[in-house]
Amino acid sequence: PPRPELEALQHADVARLLPVPAAESDKYRRGVVGVAAGSGRYPGAAVLAVAGALRGGAGAVRYVGPAGQAVIARFPETLVSDRGPKHAGRVQAWVVGPGAGDDAATVAEVLAADVPVLIDADGLRLAEAPAVRARRAPTLLTPHAGEAAALLGVERHEIEGARLGAVRELAGRYGAAVLLKGSTTLVADAGGEGPVRVNPTGTPWLATAGSGDVLSGLAGSLLAAGLAAVDAGSAAAYLHGLAGRFAADGAPVGAQDVAEGIAGAWRSVVRG
Ligand code: AMP
Ligand code: MG
Repeated sequence: PPRPELEALQHADVARLLPVPAAESDKYRRGVVGVAAGSGRYPGAAVLAVAGALRGGAGAVRYVGPAGQAVIARFPETLVSDRGPKHAGRVQAWVVGPGAGDDAATVAEVLAADVPVLIDADGLRLAEAPAVRARRAPTLLTPHAGEAAALLGVERHEIEGARLGAVRELAGRYGAAVLLKGSTTLVADAGGEGPVRVNPTGTPWLATAGSGDVLSGLAGSLLAAGLAAVDAGSAAAYLHGLAGRFAADGAPVGAQDVAEGIAGAWRSVVRG
């Protein structure tokens, strides 16, 4: 029989995806995630992406960019540098783009790295499809509807009316896994040929500034732990939705609260 076009993400499937550190793990084996985000204008995006990454299970988070002081002030456990990604030490996956402005050189350096890369926000404008397709390591794109519309050269309402087609079209054009954010988040595998995963855990309380930056860091951490791009996106969307629900608990919250909700979401997933 033909495979279904859509697959709802389920608790048990996500539980199987989440990395559990082995007894003999060290921080490098758990994965080092590099975050290339933020700018003089948007330093907060760097802080929020790092917040998501720290709660996503990586052994270490390395931040490169101009917002290192803001990052360190909030998260002293971060390794920070103001030199470009190509000068960074060991990194097992990169997150590039949140609040990054027009820093095309940083995006190019990250795309040249032979490790998985997550591209979000400003990074999506700066990463050309041929450059993404040429990568050997996996890529995950995380647009919201407006960003997806810009990439496909259509109006935002055209995406809203045809989200399944749009996520597949992007996955095909870029040869990358694509997580299309929104009230229901969709995740397509690279190429867009397989069933598209639908995340059921979202809540409109997540519609708050910086929430997407937290998701980027979280998914980047799962990439650094070795998950396939489509699985990292799926598990991150699922956890992020639950984190928003737990943090909000019926009242408004900000993106930092969502990041702090990730640990409870993780526990609830692994405890079943
Ligand atoms: P961004 O637009 O990059 O800030 O990301 C916003 C985040 O909030 C994404 O993870 C969206 O899926 C999520 N989100 C936004 N609006 C809603 C909604 N109405 N219901 C559920 N999740 C939402
Ligand atoms: Mg965003």
